Amino acid sequence: MRLLVVEDEPDLAEALARGLRRDGHAVDLALTAYDADLRLRTAGYDLVCLDWNLPDGSGLELCRAVVEGELPLFEDGQRPRILMLTARDDVTDRVAGLDSGADDYLVKPFSFSELSARVRALLRRDVSTGPILEVGALRMDPARFEASRDGEPLGLTSKEFALLNYFMSRPGEVMSQEHLLEHVWDEMADPLTNVVRVTLSNLRKKVGEPPLIETVPGRGYRLIDS
Ligand code: CA
Repeated sequence: MRLLVVEDEPDLAEALARGLRRDGHAVDLALTAYDADLRLRTAGYDLVCLDWNLPDGSGLELCRAVVEGELPLFEDGQRPRILMLTARDDVTDRVAGLDSGADDYLVKPFSFSELSARVRALLRRDVSTGPILEVGALRMDPARFEASRDGEPLGLTSKEFALLNYFMSRPGEVMSQEHLLEHVWDEMADPLTNVVRVTLSNLRKKVGEPPLIETVPGRGYRLIDS
């Protein structure tokens, strides 16, 4: 999944990005509201960790702009989930945070494991599925970094894991190479390389036979969901 961390304290921002990358996400950083605004217009994010107090504006206002559609997002379709981060902890602020359309709310100081758990929960499209993803013979436990087919561990690299995680979150959906690059890789990925194709090819080998990720000519790839 592609995440944007908006946080003006550089040490905290770096620590969050490092931890979330270790969890297998592609993470970009924004240190100001201006920068965050720009990134949201130019890249497709699945989730934004958004600090309330930014030097040049309010995270809350930015949240409202995203939720209410005032900010033209990069792609059509789903808006990113928003996890508000704040040092304030009084009840009124909490209500204001959720009123602005934030999907969840975390009060500083928080442990990274708490943030990691909230992010995982928010990224599950269907909350009824629980923390374990299952599609046909495939099973994935993102918290434990485990993926298997018919009970056999797949031995994936973190990027292959992230790619399979994205497919398993959207079983049956056809996704283009550009879309996958946008959501599974961060801004450091060169769009002119064949990084998606190479990772996909390695992933397919590890997933094994019969193939579960099919090519839809001219459109992209999909995970067979039956
Ligand atoms: Ca701040």
